[in-house]
Amino acid sequence: MPVFENNVIKEILAKYRRIWAIGHAMSLMGWDEETYMPEKGVTERSTAIAELRALYQELVLSDQFVSLVEKAKSLEGLNDYEKGVVRVLDREITIAKKIPPQLNYELAKTTSEAFVAWREARSKAEFSIFRPWLQKVVDLTKQVAEKLGYEEHPYDALLDLYEEGLRLRDVRSIFSILEPGIRSVLEKVISRGYFTVRSPLEEAKYDEQAMRRVNERVLDLLGFPRDRARLDVSPHPFTTNMGVNDVRITTRYEGLDFKRSLFSVVHEFGHATYELQVDPELAMTPIGTGASLGVHEGQSRFWENVIGRSPQFASLVKPLLDQELGLTRSLSVEDVYRYFASVRPSLIRTEADEVTYNLHILLRYELEVQLVGGEIKVDDLPELWNRRTEELLGVKPNNDAEGVLQDIHWAHGSIGYFPTYTLGNIVAAMMRDAFRKRVGDLGDYVAKGDFGQIKSFLRDFIHRYGSTYAPKELLRRQLGSEYDPNALLSYLEEKYVKGAP
Ligand code: MG
Repeated sequence: MPVFENNVIKEILAKYRRIWAIGHAMSLMGWDEETYMPEKGVTERSTAIAELRALYQELVLSDQFVSLVEKAKSLEGLNDYEKGVVRVLDREITIAKKIPPQLNYELAKTTSEAFVAWREARSKAEFSIFRPWLQKVVDLTKQVAEKLGYEEHPYDALLDLYEEGLRLRDVRSIFSILEPGIRSVLEKVISRGYFTVRSPLEEAKYDEQAMRRVNERVLDLLGFPRDRARLDVSPHPFTTNMGVNDVRITTRYEGLDFKRSLFSVVHEFGHATYELQVDPELAMTPIGTGASLGVHEGQSRFWENVIGRSPQFASLVKPLLDQELGLTRSLSVEDVYRYFASVRPSLIRTEADEVTYNLHILLRYELEVQLVGGEIKVDDLPELWNRRTEELLGVKPNNDAEGVLQDIHWAHGSIGYFPTYTLGNIVAAMMRDAFRKRVGDLGDYVAKGDFGQIKSFLRDFIHRYGSTYAPKELLRRQLGSEYDPNALLSYLEEKYVKGAP
């Protein structure tokens, strides 16, 4: 049975094809900019992307397209896929209409200048260089929140931009459970000491060519479809999809502590698998891509942490690590597992382990809420950051580069984005529970290298729907509840407390 039957929806999809094509081109240009574009191409490339974005916006907001979507909103008897198309487009049009082009322009200009200031500030560890730019970003972001509108708190409007339907009260209730739960797990992990030992591998240098072979072989084990996807190198690992049959991932090679490169690959493989397993019938439509940032991060964290940082995965990949890199030859599988799954409170979010990671997110989201709500000033950030880091993690930044300047998000204007990382960790744990309930013990499948079963499960439960359902609805329907922080806590407790001899 065809997925799309209604004639108005078919007309919308035919018109949407051109909009989709512009998005396709922008994705490819964005990927190229991060991977292969010669350095000096940046000015022409960013101009070209900005022009295409304007064209995209014109088509989405054209009278004819808007009135078709309006007409579709009142149709009765649409199937779930058709309703999904209407929901996604209506949301896009509504957001685009509410934010005036002048505000968008100022935001784009300010954030590109703020990025340069942030980079300099971070390299010199001097917040004062970034401070005036951050002030501008915060002011403009508050204007965006006002234009979008909200019921309870301006932060609601910003959260919703990144995760459809997410509200401050959701995030507050999630962290009211996570904060004490994680602190209690962390105390036990530290007192047992099993996962906190330092591995010599953390300091070990590796050969880049050998590491490239490791990553390629791991992707082969996982079943990375080479005719629909590829791995390249970029300064910051990411995934981008041109469509359901062309997905690109990247990693980086720092030459030290090889798990960083390896787990970037496994993480991005999770993102890629989501896009590659969307129902092909949804290709080139507004719902032919992942449901939200939180659900997407759930897929990547599931592969990176639940599968990758497991004893079974350590055992599975050890022979190829021994063979290609050599660094692990004198170590046991257990040593490699403890290297993969080590836990230690630290200053830098992107290097944080699974247990402490969400405390880094808690810190950022609390500051964002207070900034947007006008309770604190940009000037107060470095001190508040350092104080709260010490309260939550027991470590104190030596300078602002290790503290408030470490992440790029605020320079980009991405305020309200951080909580989606925690949603991802929660969704990953929920999927582990669902797999256990419906299929069996995940570890048994990983030990056998039977990733086909795992991927089929993910496809049937989450991936194939694309953005047919809004994220909360998708989770309720397919996993039985919305973002459930208790699933994450039981996972952490089982793995890091019960799992420590
Ligand atoms: Mg990710």
